[in-house]
Amino acid sequence: MYIRFNGCYYIAVIRSISNSNDYYVVHVSANGRKAYCTCKYHLITGKPCKHIVAVINELERKGFLETRTLSINRTSRSLPKPPSS
Ligand SMILES: [Zn+2]
Repeated sequence: MYIRFNGCYYIAVIRSISNSNDYYVVHVSANGRKAYCTCKYHLITGKPCKHIVAVINELERKGFLETRTLSINRTSRSLPKPPSS
């Protein structure tokens, strides 16, 4: 999985398991509260798909999401703070 941070969103690219030429792009907001995916399931249902869940799990594992870091007192952050606007 490839993840990068653009200042507001984590952008992850996930290759399809069934078709290696296919891939999905997942956007997760810096605080983890908003997430979008380009797969059909998410576009049709609007529900969190397995791609979104996988990306959020990965971000939490790495301690990137604010929701996670907020629960830990005075933990230094390795990523720049997103703009407050
Ligand atoms: Zn998806």
